[in-house]
Formats: sequence, structure tokens, C-alpha cells
Amino acid sequence: MGQLEGKVALVVGGARGLGAAQAELFSQEGATVVVADVLRERGEATAGGLKNAEFRFLDVTSEQNWNEVVDDIVARHGRLDVMIENAGIYQGRKLVNIALHEWHQVVAVNQTGPFLGLQTAGRAMIRCGNGGSIVVLGSVAGLWGPWGGTSYSASKWAIRGMCRVAAKEFGPHGIRVNSIHPGYIQTELLDSSTKHLDRDEIIKAIPLGRIGDACEVAALALFLASDQSSYCTGQEFVIDGGLHG
Ligand code: NAD
Repeated sequence: MGQLEGKVALVVGGARGLGAAQAELFSQEGATVVVADVLRERGEATAGGLKNAEFRFLDVTSEQNWNEVVDDIVARHGRLDVMIENAGIYQGRKLVNIALHEWHQVVAVNQTGPFLGLQTAGRAMIRCGNGGSIVVLGSVAGLWGPWGGTSYSASKWAIRGMCRVAAKEFGPHGIRVNSIHPGYIQTELLDSSTKHLDRDEIIKAIPLGRIGDACEVAALALFLASDQSSYCTGQEFVIDGGLHG
């Protein structure tokens, strides 16, 4: 029997990268999986290759989109057990060069998105009365101050605060809230955000001596989504090969 048998999981930002790996693992573990993303074709292809999975368009910056998607899941499946929020964008400009609209864009996706996700999924889980697990993807950039990543880093620090407060508010309803903070994991986002950096130098700084794989983050996400982590809430889980030990 799979670890998520009978559960309904919403994987946001699930069209590619870390979210796609989670969608695949959650489906293998018996969940009904809703892949949500702004990338329609990619998301449909990801969901189409999985058992009991479907795609829904969701722009995490839109309150209306969140309400439509979550209401639709509860109406059709009768429950929402897991929501994992991966949607994120990177911006590596120096602080003095960030235009205000660029700052707002990163905050809208990386901070307002998880806020709306916590709120909408939390409300739905409370209504359903089955408890649940919410996981938000932060970053090691939310644990320190990486050079040239003010807006990204600030938005990832914010996730920790929101998740800790949500864990307190949702705990009495049996809903757990945790965040995952990856280091360097091989995805398209990593390729674009490190294109001006020397890969060998990055790898030298990682005690385990390699870039992580999306399936390794998916394994941690499965632990947090499943009942295996039934007494974990309000916590930050770092997965970075020892980078910030
Ligand atoms: P990715 O770019 O491969 O995937 C991100 C997904 O989010 C994409 O499918 C994208 O379409 C979706 N997305 C972006 N904006 C959206 C929006 N407004 N609404 C809905 N979906 C949207 O990136 P990834 O590497 O898989 O990263 C996933 C998460 O993990 C991000 O929050 C990222 O900041 C975080 N993270 C990644 C790494 C890494 O090394 N890959 C490290 C630290 C943190």
C-alpha cells in the first residue's frame, strides 16, 4: 500500500522541476494528484504521464485562481489532504539595481503565492475536517544572505515566518505546515540562475560534492506529506548536501 493511498494532493508549480518529481512520486504512492502551474502544455504533459493525475491552470499570484482550483478539487474529490507550493522565480540583481516592479514581481510569486496557498488550502482543509499537510518550498537563500539575491532571499525568509505562524493556527485542526529549504538542485531554474557561475566552484563548496537531484527533494516532500511525519509541524527542513552546515 502506498504512503499516500486515498489522499488528494495539490502540487503547485508541478509542471516541471522539483514539483514534477513530487507529482510523480506522490502518484506512485497512491495519491490522486492535481498538478497546477502557469505552464499549461508542460503541466498537461506531466500530469498526462501519471496515474490518477490531472492538470489545472493556476497563477499563484491570483486569489481567484487559487479559490477556483481548490474549490474544484474539493467539489470533485471531496477532500484535500496535501498542498505543496513549489512555484518560485529567481532574480539575482544587486540591491542597488533592482527596479521596484522587479521586486514586486518576485514578492508576488514567491511570497504572496505561498500566502494565498496557505490561506486557501488551509480554509479548505479546515472545512473538510480531515487534517492535512501543507509544505512550502523555501531555499537556503532564506537561511542566509546570498550575494546578489535580495528579492529572492527576502521572499524565501518570509516563507519561514508564514509557515511557523500557520502551523500554530492550523495545528488544532490537525493540519501540519512545514517548509523545505533546498541548496543546489538540478532543474531548469538552477541552470538559469547559475549560468554566470562556475559549476566546479559551486560543487567544491558542497560537502557531499555534487548537485542534488529533484527526486531527493521529492523523497523529503513525501515524508512531510505523509503520515510518516505526523508529529512534525512548524519546521524548516534543509536539503543541501551540507552546504550550510
Ligand atoms: P522550476 O523553474 O524548474 O519550476 C518552478 C515551477 O513553478 C515552474 O513549473 C513554473 O512554471 C512554476 N511557476 C512559476 N511562476 C508561477 C506562477 N506565478 N504560478 C504558478 N506556477 C508558477 O524551479 P525548481 O528548481 O523546480 O524550483 C521549485 C521551488 O524550489 C522554487 O520555489 C525555488 O525557488 C525552490 N528552490 C529551488 C532550488 C534549486 O536549486 N532548484 C534551490 C532552492 C530553492
